Amino acid sequence: MRCLPVPAPPGLNLSKELFVPPAVYPGERQSILGIKTVGSISISKSESHSQGIEPNRNNPRPLDRDALDFGSTAILLDIDGTLLDLAATPAGVLVPSSLQATLTTLWKWTGGALALISGRPLKDIDRIFAPLELPAVGGHGAEIRASMKTSPKKRAQVLLLDERVRRPLLGLSRKGVLIEDKGYSMAVHYRLAPELGPELRRQVALIASSFSDARYEVLPGKFVIEVKPTAFNKGTAVLQLMELPPFAGRRPLFIGDDVTDEAVFAILPDVRGTGFSVGRMIAGATGVFATPADVRAWLARMAAKSGEQ
Ligand SMILES: [Mg+2]
Repeated sequence: MRCLPVPAPPGLNLSKELFVPPAVYPGERQSILGIKTVGSISISKSESHSQGIEPNRNNPRPLDRDALDFGSTAILLDIDGTLLDLAATPAGVLVPSSLQATLTTLWKWTGGALALISGRPLKDIDRIFAPLELPAVGGHGAEIRASMKTSPKKRAQVLLLDERVRRPLLGLSRKGVLIEDKGYSMAVHYRLAPELGPELRRQVALIASSFSDARYEVLPGKFVIEVKPTAFNKGTAVLQLMELPPFAGRRPLFIGDDVTDEAVFAILPDVRGTGFSVGRMIAGATGVFATPADVRAWLARMAAKSGEQ
């Protein structure tokens, strides 16, 4: 049985929370960001094709001894489906109190270089994580706030959707379908009526395509379809964020789970970054967390280790 080394983030208990899909292979052991010591596991190629790759149980490396280099890393985190478990409605998400403490600690130890990267508006992010007001990218890149103390930069030119798109999308509202108007984008949530998914996707695509200049794009998500201008995305926003203090000069560690996060994974090589996805492999990711709970647990371990540095 041939075994291949695969890089893993530090401190991960791979047997419980991470699998690395075949797309990563073959892999030479690589350093990840400014992480001082990167854990490495050996997994068999044949096992990798089954659900949940089994790490080599004879691997002697104690992964938990490793830690992030807080002096050179920026931590960038998607919210829904990455930090938080998905809820039936966007307003229904719950932030565990322990996560507040973890994020505060990591924000402090990275010199403020921890940001939430979300499709939600900034005011929505602040409401969810109150009283924290962390650096954040909101609205898929429509808003960027690099520090707690500054007001966000907004893209005035693209803040409002054209009424010819907005009104038909509002018209899709019905029982089990929630239309979220963010101003610069709109989301059609159908988690409460999943059987309507195919028809809603067809109708949203039709509405968005009424403009011939590809001004808008449709982003399918987990029981949500979003329409936003093509002028910006999470990836372009992260590039801008990484030019601003305290993020400038650091290497981003990004974790995300959804279609909209693919734009971030795509630009990570440009900023010497590393990414991990949640629940499924995304192109450009180095590894995969199984669930948001696993992401929270790993962050908590990294925060606990911050006091040791
Ligand atoms: Mg997400």
